[in-house]
Amino acid sequence: MLIGRFAPTPSGGLHFGSLVAALASFLSARRQGGRWLVRMEDVDQLRCEPGADALILRQLEQYALHWDGDVLYQSTRSEAYRAARDALMHAGWAYACRCSRTHIRAAATRWNREGALYPGTCRSLGLHAAKSLVKNLAVRLDTAKVQAGAIVEFMDGALGAQACDVAQDWGDFVLWRVEDLAAYHLAVVVDDAWQGVTEVVRGADLLDSTPRQILLQRALGLPTPRYTHVPLALAANGQKLSKQNLAPCLPLTSPGEDLWDALVFLGERPPQALCGASPEELLHWALSM
Ligand code: GLU
Repeated sequence: MLIGRFAPTPSGGLHFGSLVAALASFLSARRQGGRWLVRMEDVDQLRCEPGADALILRQLEQYALHWDGDVLYQSTRSEAYRAARDALMHAGWAYACRCSRTHIRAAATRWNREGALYPGTCRSLGLHAAKSLVKNLAVRLDTAKVQAGAIVEFMDGALGAQACDVAQDWGDFVLWRVEDLAAYHLAVVVDDAWQGVTEVVRGADLLDSTPRQILLQRALGLPTPRYTHVPLALAANGQKLSKQNLAPCLPLTSPGEDLWDALVFLGERPPQALCGASPEELLHWALSM
């Protein structure tokens, strides 16, 4: 059974970019007769806005993007993330790290577009052996060890063959944050596997994340879903639409028009006869194509 998902961070309501991601994953799953799940990525409560989850669900319903089963909230899953973290440390694939950002910036010898790569300072210190310490420490994946010389390759459904040397390009990335929270990559990988997700369709802004997530799946012995990254809707100034740059939350006033625009953005060509149609009618058309 094909299982797709939409996994918004409830830091605000849906904007046009997130509607495009929701629609793309919905259409792909439904066209293949699959299930479509919704997961709220609310691990970091400080980034979430009270009520944004309910607003997103209301918006999805207005767009007739009806999901299957219960919505999974990542804030209820910390035990599963903790167990995955401990299994990785136990296997020697991950290690505790006490470095501050300042230390990392000062000691780094390599950088990428997200900043300084971790220079490996704590890799062989065995800090996690003292169990009580782990409480206040970050945990990192030993990427070179997990990768064992084999670069990560995958076939993207939209962008074709991709390859990444994670150890080289990203270094030992964080799995667990000092704030005692699972980091994004760990939570996503654990939940995609737990929910049986077989297909991930999401915005191209997450293309960079995929090799790190595949490497983590390898370390945890989890299956790798199929990945498709759809083009990103940009604001008129060329910036990514996001809450950080104040992309407007879609009002609930013209769901048919918004959905029409999102379909067109994804390269669909709804017939003129459907101009002014409801979301149900538009999706009915899109799913009969
Ligand atoms: N929660 C992430 C976001 O809203 C998406 C995660 C994913 O699709 O893997 O950007």
